[in-house]
Amino acid sequence: MGNNTGTIIQESLDALMDDDGFLPELTGKSREKAFSSLASILSTPNHINKSYLRITRDNGKVERVPAFRVQHNNILGPYKGGIRFHESVKEEEVENLAALMTLKNALHEVPFGGGKGGVIINPREYSVKELNLVCKKYVQYFSEIIGPDKDIPAPDVGTGSREMDWMMGEYKSIQPGKPYRGSFTGKSVMNGGSLGRSAATGKGVYFSLRYMLHDFVKEQEKWLAERDNKFAQTALDHADKKLSIAVQGFGNVGSVAALEAYQCDYLNNNIVAVSDRNVTLYNSDGLDIPGLVKFVKKNGGDLPVDQEQLEEAEVKAEIRDRDDLLTMDTDVLMLAALESQVTRNNMEDIKAKIIVEAANAPMTSEADTYLSDNGVIIIPDILANAGGAIVSYLEWLQGRETQFLSEKEVYTRLTDQMKATFDTIYPQFYGDPFPLRQNCYIHAVMKISTILFRQGKLY
Ligand code: GLU
Repeated sequence: MGNNTGTIIQESLDALMDDDGFLPELTGKSREKAFSSLASILSTPNHINKSYLRITRDNGKVERVPAFRVQHNNILGPYKGGIRFHESVKEEEVENLAALMTLKNALHEVPFGGGKGGVIINPREYSVKELNLVCKKYVQYFSEIIGPDKDIPAPDVGTGSREMDWMMGEYKSIQPGKPYRGSFTGKSVMNGGSLGRSAATGKGVYFSLRYMLHDFVKEQEKWLAERDNKFAQTALDHADKKLSIAVQGFGNVGSVAALEAYQCDYLNNNIVAVSDRNVTLYNSDGLDIPGLVKFVKKNGGDLPVDQEQLEEAEVKAEIRDRDDLLTMDTDVLMLAALESQVTRNNMEDIKAKIIVEAANAPMTSEADTYLSDNGVIIIPDILANAGGAIVSYLEWLQGRETQFLSEKEVYTRLTDQMKATFDTIYPQFYGDPFPLRQNCYIHAVMKISTILFRQGKLY
């Protein structure tokens, strides 16, 4: 498992071990033993499933494509997490992402465990027919371990509702007579998906920022001002300010989060930069985000790369190098691309005082510690980007009850659920010196440990 997750799990356990109020039934040697078994349960996945999918390409050539499904922990419910199609997928990274799903679901009271899938391909290099075959083969190889009460995949980087529809279709054919609606989430609405699922992660990401700098600060301004805490100071410094925001990644999560920020009338937002795999676009007066969203939808997903395309989009911006965005002088940096974007190589050049992790694990632990030590508030992945997982749960429920919620009902339930988590975590965070990530881990680990104990599995 990636160092960062494993280390923070261990630190969270150490903090809980010293807390007499936590699992008071365990004392002395038996407490020590239980905490060491907790550490091993949480830092290793229950199952690592690996296969080589045999794919016949359109040109007749046969390829063996490595594919994974890691099932980290199911103490709170069936394994749950996305399937990623990307050329950089690695087994260890999938293990780390599966552990993050366990923690994310526990943190937000979603009754699921954690899992993650990955296929090592660049989906841009595969035809629609070939991708359909990859999806079918994935389900054929893993159909025994998937199911509405076993393990429920969802979209992730490189996959979306089209892939989930294909996968659910294949699952239904392979497992006739078995319940299939809840076997995959993130499906298209026509095919049993939930209204609001595709925008849920991006909306939740922006909500986490808005709640921190507006709702929470407004309610707790006096209390925050009395804290002797560098993070409380960072929040207060940014609360009433015109916020400049840079968004790395303009896919399903980054573009929605940017649009939410653009449309939000609570905060005075100015989205000055966005980037994707090709370019950074910059405008100190603020970018026309709806114009860019429209362009991206029409042009296969990429931002304008030259003056001609900017004119076509009717958007005013300077074109800069892709990685310039990370070190720009903005108040907020949203990381909505891939993992390990902020590392020891660029951490000293980061100027933003608030970082929102829209992607999973976008910072290395070294960069995380360095920036937190300098008073930067990092809203961590498991807190900020849980919108997709929360609405996946609503989708699974709707499939079970065959009763469907309106888009408004979905968003109300999404924001209520996230708000309940923020109201637990934010006061804790400003009340003690731990960074926000550690507060989230402590909360999630506490929940999982309590259930393990109650179920008699801690010995
Ligand atoms: N892949 C998304 C995530 O990392 C969604 C997972 C899900 O809906 O289960 O949170």
